[in-house]
Amino acid sequence: MTLRDSVFQLTSEHLKTGPDGKAHKVPALLDELRAAVTPGNSMSGGGASGPPIPINADALDLLREIEQTAKSDYYEMAGVQWTKDLARLLPWIVSLDLTPEWSAYLERVSLEWIDAITTLIWPVKPRRKLTGKTCPSCGLSMHGDERKVTLSLGCWDSEGNLAKIGDWDIECAGCGAGWSGDQVSWLLKALDTPGMELTQAEKIRV
Ligand SMILES: [Zn+2]
Repeated sequence: MTLRDSVFQLTSEHLKTGPDGKAHKVPALLDELRAAVTPGNSMSGGGASGPPIPINADALDLLREIEQTAKSDYYEMAGVQWTKDLARLLPWIVSLDLTPEWSAYLERVSLEWIDAITTLIWPVKPRRKLTGKTCPSCGLSMHGDERKVTLSLGCWDSEGNLAKIGDWDIECAGCGAGWSGDQVSWLLKALDTPGMELTQAEKIRV
């Protein structure tokens, strides 16, 4: 992803592929982060006499860190203070004639911000354990002294939604074997594990 793409995702409404495989308009990541700072805001009604709005300290810290880094980088780069908001600073920086060093640095740091925001807003959901199922590669259903389940299914996308089945994967923690793509539905059938059971109320068929 180029610096321009990263900054666009951070500061503008953009298209993103949803679990249905279609592109949807989603808000700027910095707007999502700002909204996450006061998660109860939209429900509180904003009345002055109501209970105080809870603050997500992690979201606030991240927002401040991004803002301070961007503003101090800009000061170092341009020799003047940026007095307007962060959402306008980043596209402005992209429009400048950057040195290759600044370009490479900003490319890296903007991807780190995207990762940090995404992880904070949509924490990774744990893989589904395929309890009682035997790995066709090593023949084990449990492994190690703690008798852990060998097979697990990865079925969530980076936002915690159920991914398309073509993006699912199965891994064996016992022998390290892995299956992906079309192999997943084949293996689930072979293991006699219907998709309905795995996904419970999520109405996905294998
Ligand atoms: Zn195995």
